[in-house]
Amino acid sequence: MRKTLYIIGLSTFVFSCTSQQNVKKNTYKPKTPVSQAKPGVKTPVAETPKPKITNEHGVEFFTTNLADPAKNDNTASYGSIVSAKPIGYKVVKTYFPAIAQNFRQRYLILHYTALPDDKSITVLTQQGVSSHYLVNNTGDNEIYQLVDENKRSYHAGVSAWRNDKNLNDTSIGIEIVNTGYTSDAAGKKIFAAFSDDQIRKVAALAKDIVTRYQIPATNVLAHADIAPTRKQDPGPMFPWKKLYDEYQLGMWYDETAKQNFLTLAQADFSVRYIDPSFIFVVQTALQKFGYYLDLSGKWDDATKKTIEAFQYHFRPQNYDGIMDAETWAILQALNQKYPAK
Ligand SMILES: [Zn+2]
Repeated sequence: MRKTLYIIGLSTFVFSCTSQQNVKKNTYKPKTPVSQAKPGVKTPVAETPKPKITNEHGVEFFTTNLADPAKNDNTASYGSIVSAKPIGYKVVKTYFPAIAQNFRQRYLILHYTALPDDKSITVLTQQGVSSHYLVNNTGDNEIYQLVDENKRSYHAGVSAWRNDKNLNDTSIGIEIVNTGYTSDAAGKKIFAAFSDDQIRKVAALAKDIVTRYQIPATNVLAHADIAPTRKQDPGPMFPWKKLYDEYQLGMWYDETAKQNFLTLAQADFSVRYIDPSFIFVVQTALQKFGYYLDLSGKWDDATKKTIEAFQYHFRPQNYDGIMDAETWAILQALNQKYPAK
């Protein structure tokens, strides 16, 4: 019976989402054909185990997961259940929860504030931007929560990744206090370092969020990844490799795969670099990986900024925005390891 319920639920979800904007194309599809689902069949509710709703001080919580966590369709609630209170009627949870639901929170986006600690708090709490969490640089053990995880915070702005846009709708944002960058005489951006205790805080916080909402590695991203023409944060000083190696957070390439691609790339890279068809191939690879980018066949400003954002994240030793053999090898290794579904 559980299986039947599940199929009906997922079928309905897939169907009802087709008319919506910003729908992920890789939404989970049931293996069983939709026609086999029988929406007309009455469900004997008695067979379904009663979910446990806890009540504390008149506020209800539900923390039991009935769905398959591997499908990211989840019935658990990590906060209080918000219900209507219509005058003259009683909202009951006799049939709660439906299986066909998932978390709003499908991305984790990391930022730096480009401001000192006190100013970061003022800007993120009193003005037109915010984040769910703010990680200070004062060396204590506190992490500031500024917005309920169930609400949208205004941290991403105009943004896109793979098939998704406007990522404020589907993400948790973490701001990290850091002064950002200054430009040297040659125009190179020089970025401020993060302290070790900040990184430990960010990692612990990110691990908790990613685990609870089953956020995939491909959706743990920099603000610069989802808005490469506008943003640099958290920049090349942010240790993505450390997060991957020590906390199993986010994406990183396999060294062997990178070396194999590098050997191939180095053979004729300077010749291919000026070939428009190669530029098109690179742009397609960046787009396939997740970046929002027009396929112009030119090393235009948007493409350079996108390469720079990619380098901040995956090749931070040199972030000049120029596609070189190593950057190209890393991009190919990542596309091989994390293919778009
Ligand atoms: Zn940002």
